[in-house]
Amino acid sequence: TYIVTEACIKCKYMDCVEVCPVDCFYEGENFLVINPNECIDCGVCEPECPAEAILPDTEDGLEEWLEINTKYSEEW
Ligand code: SF4
Repeated sequence: TYIVTEACIKCKYMDCVEVCPVDCFYEGENFLVINPNECIDCGVCEPECPAEAILPDTEDGLEEWLEINTKYSEEW
């Protein structure tokens, strides 16, 4: 799954939301999150993010962001 990380905070671009084929982006407090359970790992959103905030959760040190993405996307 892909997740949204720190660089997204207060980002005004929504390019990622428009390309996601399963609409799994949700709005967090001041940034977007991806619902890790809905993301189909297609990778389409990653190059669309001007802030390079979207990363695969397989990268090191992103456990906290995976939790944050899960938490905020499930409040909806
Ligand atoms: Fe949506 Fe694909 Fe990005 Fe997952 S990887 S959030 S399914 S566009």
